[in-house]
Amino acid sequence: MEQHLRTANLIRLRTAAAALRANRFAAEVCEDGPAASAALLALAGKGRKIGLGGSMTVASLGLPEALAAAGNTIVTHKSGMTPEEKRLVWLEAQGSDLYLASPQAVTMDGKLVFLDANGNRGAAVIYGPRRIVLIAGVNKLARDQEEGLWRARNVAAIANNIRLSKDNPCVKAGRCVDCAGAGRICNQVTLLWKKPSASDILVLLVNETLGY
Ligand code: SF4
Repeated sequence: MEQHLRTANLIRLRTAAAALRANRFAAEVCEDGPAASAALLALAGKGRKIGLGGSMTVASLGLPEALAAAGNTIVTHKSGMTPEEKRLVWLEAQGSDLYLASPQAVTMDGKLVFLDANGNRGAAVIYGPRRIVLIAGVNKLARDQEEGLWRARNVAAIANNIRLSKDNPCVKAGRCVDCAGAGRICNQVTLLWKKPSASDILVLLVNETLGY
């Protein structure tokens, strides 16, 4: 039973990868998280400046630690930084050798959906870093742009609100209510329909549930 689901998911991931390639992204399907990590570490090499967007997928694979252990410099904001410190880190990440993040949704017709509070990740995945690698578990697949946005708001954002101890109304309602409070974490959508012409973007699709 489990194997049947894995095979079905693998077929869906291959279909999404083909759609991404048709939209000019590079795309590979990885059997599981360790395979995705190995591919990423081989690609990153050492002695590079690696920008990180906030990503539970990347964190769950232990990639920040592994990349640092391999001799790379990690550029990412940390809690407790002042707004100005964050601004400088985000600008530095824009010029990184490799930027690593995860979209909230990958659509079956090859589009990438990001929903963010600040805009640093959205900016970086459009243009700036020498290379951009996006990792997404099979749980991020969505039928189309509409379902991808629904997933970003009603699955990923609610989990992120809980992770960040935010008391936005979706946490109680179990669905996005398009709140208007100062603590709202959903302030901009970045939607990549096709690969931006001057950017180098690889999407690693993983046959495993990763992040949210
Ligand atoms: S209710 Fe507000 S914080 Fe929660 S998912 Fe919707 S827009 Fe985001």
